[in-house]
Amino acid sequence: MPVKQDKDELMCVIDYEILHLKESPLYEYRTSNKYFPVIGEGSVDAKIMFVGEAPGRNEAKTGKPFCGAAGKVLDKLLEHVKLTRDAIYITNIVKDRPPENRDPTAKEIEVYGPFLDRQIEIIKPKVIVALGRYAMGYIMKKFDLENQLEPIGKAHGKAHSAKTSYGKIDIITLYHPCMAVYNPNNLPNLKKDMEILKKYE
Ligand code: URA
Repeated sequence: MPVKQDKDELMCVIDYEILHLKESPLYEYRTSNKYFPVIGEGSVDAKIMFVGEAPGRNEAKTGKPFCGAAGKVLDKLLEHVKLTRDAIYITNIVKDRPPENRDPTAKEIEVYGPFLDRQIEIIKPKVIVALGRYAMGYIMKKFDLENQLEPIGKAHGKAHSAKTSYGKIDIITLYHPCMAVYNPNNLPNLKKDMEILKKYE
């Protein structure tokens, strides 16, 4: 089992590889805008790993995941279940910002997905929280749960059991926090869904 220093080193390798990922369709856009890739943040020993979609403008300017409007909502949701950012790990499937915050393409998911796979293998979380339909689609397929895939409007707030190379884990599918950015009236429902995480404290 890798010790913490090894885990940090393995994460640094991922960081370096993505920084120089010239074959990414988003590399040129990142470098010409002086943006940063967003690798992830939090504890490499986290029991709970959150996976979002892709960085937005604030994230690409700072290199930190969920530091803009959706991040403020995520912070409220974490606070609601007494979780802190340093106790969890937060990342995205796609590590570079797509232009104009458009949805990630299948090609982008294909290019960045293997890095997320490696991050999961390093951290070995007991719970993976997929935020929104892109993260849900990728994670559910990765763990052979494609037959349980539902539209996010049905899947939100549900837990699914999955087998990994390091044992059984739960996959939680949630609405993306941006739902409460577009419409703050959605916040109470997002908080309610988030309560499913209380059982993993
Ligand atoms: N939305 C995401 O999916 N990820 C971020 O890091 C920020 C906004």
